[in-house]
Amino acid sequence: MQNYVDLAEKNGVTLLSNGKCQFCGANTKRGIHECLEIFNLGFQEIDFSNIENHCYRFLIVDAHTLQHPEIHGRWNNHFHLSRLHLVFNYNVKWTYDLSPKLSDYLNKYKVHKQDEYLNPPNALERGDITTTHIIENYSNESECKSLIKDWALEVYNKWNTHHHVVDVIAKGFLNRK
Ligand SMILES: [Zn+2]
Repeated sequence: MQNYVDLAEKNGVTLLSNGKCQFCGANTKRGIHECLEIFNLGFQEIDFSNIENHCYRFLIVDAHTLQHPEIHGRWNNHFHLSRLHLVFNYNVKWTYDLSPKLSDYLNKYKVHKQDEYLNPPNALERGDITTTHIIENYSNESECKSLIKDWALEVYNKWNTHHHVVDVIAKGFLNRK
Protein backbone atom coordinates (compact mmCIF):
# COMPACT_ATOMS: atom_id res chain seq x y z
CA MET A 1 0.00 0.00 0.00
CA GLN A 2 3.01 2.33 0.22
CA ASN A 3 2.46 3.42 -3.37
CA TYR A 4 -1.21 4.33 -2.97
CA VAL A 5 -0.33 7.97 -3.59
CA ASP A 6 1.21 7.02 -6.95
CA LEU A 7 -1.75 4.83 -7.83
CA ALA A 8 -4.19 7.63 -7.08
CA GLU A 9 -2.19 9.94 -9.30
CA LYS A 10 -2.16 7.35 -12.05
CA ASN A 11 -5.94 7.06 -11.69
CA GLY A 12 -6.25 10.84 -11.95
CA VAL A 13 -7.45 11.32 -8.39
CA THR A 14 -6.21 13.99 -5.98
CA LEU A 15 -6.02 12.70 -2.43
CA LEU A 16 -7.56 15.00 0.17
CA SER A 17 -5.73 15.15 3.50
CA ASN A 18 -8.49 16.65 5.63
CA GLY A 19 -11.94 15.66 6.74
CA LYS A 20 -13.90 12.55 5.88
CA CYS A 21 -12.50 9.85 3.66
CA GLN A 22 -13.33 11.01 0.14
CA PHE A 23 -13.93 7.43 -1.04
CA CYS A 24 -15.92 5.66 1.67
CA GLY A 25 -17.11 8.60 3.76
CA ALA A 26 -15.48 7.33 6.95
CA ASN A 27 -15.65 9.85 9.75
CA THR A 28 -11.93 10.67 9.71
CA LYS A 29 -10.08 13.93 10.29
CA ARG A 30 -7.23 13.17 7.90
CA GLY A 31 -9.16 11.56 5.06
CA ILE A 32 -7.89 8.52 3.23
CA HIS A 33 -4.61 8.56 5.16
CA GLU A 34 -6.41 7.97 8.44
CA CYS A 35 -8.79 5.50 6.81
CA LEU A 36 -5.75 3.48 5.71
CA GLU A 37 -4.20 3.66 9.19
CA ILE A 38 -7.32 2.11 10.66
CA PHE A 39 -7.29 -0.48 7.90
CA ASN A 40 -3.66 -1.35 8.71
CA LEU A 41 -3.66 -1.04 12.50
CA GLY A 42 -7.29 -1.29 13.64
CA PHE A 43 -9.29 -4.36 14.58
CA GLN A 44 -6.59 -5.39 17.10
CA GLU A 45 -9.14 -7.23 19.24
CA ILE A 46 -9.13 -10.04 16.73
CA ASP A 47 -6.39 -12.60 17.21
CA PHE A 48 -5.20 -13.10 13.65
CA SER A 49 -2.68 -15.73 14.71
CA ASN A 50 -5.70 -18.00 15.19
CA ILE A 51 -6.37 -19.71 11.85
CA GLU A 52 -10.12 -19.57 12.53
CA ASN A 53 -9.90 -15.79 12.34
CA HIS A 54 -8.06 -15.51 9.03
CA CYS A 55 -11.37 -15.15 7.22
CA TYR A 56 -11.86 -11.74 8.85
CA ARG A 57 -8.55 -10.52 7.51
CA PHE A 58 -9.68 -11.42 3.98
CA LEU A 59 -13.04 -9.69 4.48
CA ILE A 60 -11.32 -6.54 5.76
CA VAL A 61 -8.98 -6.40 2.77
CA ASP A 62 -11.76 -7.05 0.27
CA ALA A 63 -14.17 -4.53 1.79
CA HIS A 64 -11.58 -1.79 2.12
CA THR A 65 -10.13 -2.32 -1.35
CA LEU A 66 -13.55 -2.26 -2.99
CA GLN A 67 -14.44 0.92 -1.12
CA HIS A 68 -11.20 2.54 -2.32
CA PRO A 69 -10.59 1.29 -5.88
CA GLU A 70 -8.98 4.62 -6.85
CA ILE A 71 -5.88 3.71 -4.85
CA HIS A 72 -5.55 0.26 -6.41
CA GLY A 73 -4.95 -1.19 -9.83
CA ARG A 74 -8.03 -1.99 -11.92
CA TRP A 75 -7.63 -5.78 -11.72
CA ASN A 76 -7.79 -5.66 -7.94
CA ASN A 77 -11.53 -5.13 -8.33
CA HIS A 78 -11.78 -8.46 -10.11
CA PHE A 79 -9.74 -10.21 -7.45
CA HIS A 80 -11.51 -8.85 -4.39
CA LEU A 81 -15.04 -9.00 -5.76
CA SER A 82 -14.43 -12.55 -6.99
CA ARG A 83 -13.14 -13.57 -3.58
CA LEU A 84 -16.17 -12.09 -1.81
CA HIS A 85 -18.42 -13.85 -4.33
CA LEU A 86 -16.69 -17.16 -3.63
CA VAL A 87 -17.06 -16.62 0.11
CA PHE A 88 -20.63 -15.29 0.19
CA ASN A 89 -22.16 -17.06 -2.78
CA TYR A 90 -20.27 -20.36 -2.83
CA ASN A 91 -19.42 -20.59 0.89
CA VAL A 92 -15.74 -21.11 0.21
CA LYS A 93 -13.72 -21.11 3.42
CA TRP A 94 -10.89 -18.92 2.21
CA THR A 95 -7.31 -19.68 3.22
CA TYR A 96 -4.01 -17.97 2.53
CA ASP A 97 -2.98 -20.58 -0.03
CA LEU A 98 -6.08 -19.88 -2.16
CA SER A 99 -5.14 -16.25 -2.83
CA PRO A 100 -2.18 -16.95 -5.16
CA LYS A 101 -4.32 -19.57 -6.88
CA LEU A 102 -7.04 -17.02 -7.57
CA SER A 103 -4.39 -14.56 -8.79
CA ASP A 104 -2.99 -17.18 -11.17
CA TYR A 105 -6.47 -17.93 -12.47
CA LEU A 106 -7.18 -14.22 -13.01
CA ASN A 107 -3.87 -13.74 -14.81
CA LYS A 108 -4.98 -16.27 -17.39
CA TYR A 109 -8.53 -14.90 -17.49
CA LYS A 110 -7.49 -11.32 -18.13
CA VAL A 111 -5.38 -12.13 -21.20
CA HIS A 112 -8.66 -12.43 -23.11
CA LYS A 113 -10.49 -9.69 -21.20
CA GLN A 114 -8.29 -6.66 -21.64
CA ASP A 115 -11.33 -4.44 -22.24
CA GLU A 116 -13.25 -5.62 -19.20
CA TYR A 117 -13.54 -2.99 -16.49
CA LEU A 118 -15.52 -3.38 -13.32
CA ASN A 119 -16.55 0.23 -12.91
CA PRO A 120 -16.96 0.98 -9.20
CA PRO A 121 -20.09 2.46 -7.62
CA ASN A 122 -19.73 6.21 -7.12
CA ALA A 123 -17.50 7.37 -4.30
CA LEU A 124 -19.44 7.66 -1.02
CA GLU A 125 -22.01 5.19 -2.37
CA ARG A 126 -20.06 2.09 -1.45
CA GLY A 127 -21.78 1.20 1.78
CA ASP A 128 -22.60 2.96 5.05
CA ILE A 129 -20.29 0.77 7.10
CA THR A 130 -16.73 2.12 7.05
CA THR A 131 -13.50 1.80 9.00
CA THR A 132 -14.47 4.45 11.56
CA HIS A 133 -17.99 3.08 11.91
CA ILE A 134 -16.53 -0.26 12.96
CA ILE A 135 -13.95 0.99 15.44
CA GLU A 136 -16.55 3.28 17.03
CA ASN A 137 -19.15 0.55 17.41
CA TYR A 138 -17.64 -2.56 18.91
CA SER A 139 -16.55 -3.33 22.44
CA ASN A 140 -15.38 -6.90 22.08
CA GLU A 141 -14.02 -9.36 19.56
CA SER A 142 -17.29 -10.93 18.54
CA GLU A 143 -18.93 -7.56 17.87
CA CYS A 144 -15.92 -6.56 15.81
CA LYS A 145 -16.16 -9.73 13.74
CA SER A 146 -19.87 -9.29 13.23
CA LEU A 147 -19.39 -5.71 11.99
CA ILE A 148 -16.62 -6.79 9.62
CA LYS A 149 -18.91 -9.40 8.11
CA ASP A 150 -21.70 -6.83 7.70
CA TRP A 151 -19.20 -4.39 6.15
CA ALA A 152 -17.93 -6.88 3.57
CA LEU A 153 -21.45 -8.04 2.69
CA GLU A 154 -22.69 -4.48 2.26
CA VAL A 155 -19.78 -3.54 0.00
CA TYR A 156 -20.23 -6.76 -1.98
CA ASN A 157 -23.89 -5.88 -2.57
CA LYS A 158 -23.01 -2.34 -3.65
CA TRP A 159 -21.02 -3.88 -6.50
CA ASN A 160 -23.97 -6.03 -7.59
CA THR A 161 -23.95 -4.84 -11.22
CA HIS A 162 -20.77 -6.93 -11.61
CA HIS A 163 -21.87 -10.06 -9.80
CA HIS A 164 -22.59 -11.82 -13.09
CA VAL A 165 -18.99 -11.18 -14.21
CA VAL A 166 -17.41 -12.51 -11.05
CA ASP A 167 -19.77 -15.47 -11.08
CA VAL A 168 -18.15 -16.56 -14.36
CA ILE A 169 -14.74 -16.13 -12.73
CA ALA A 170 -15.80 -17.96 -9.58
CA LYS A 171 -17.16 -20.93 -11.53
CA GLY A 172 -14.03 -21.07 -13.66
CA PHE A 173 -11.87 -20.90 -10.56
CA LEU A 174 -13.81 -23.63 -8.75
CA ASN A 175 -13.72 -25.89 -11.83
CA ARG A 176 -10.08 -25.27 -12.74
CA LYS A 177 -7.90 -28.27 -13.41
ZN1 LIG B 1 -12.12 5.30 3.41
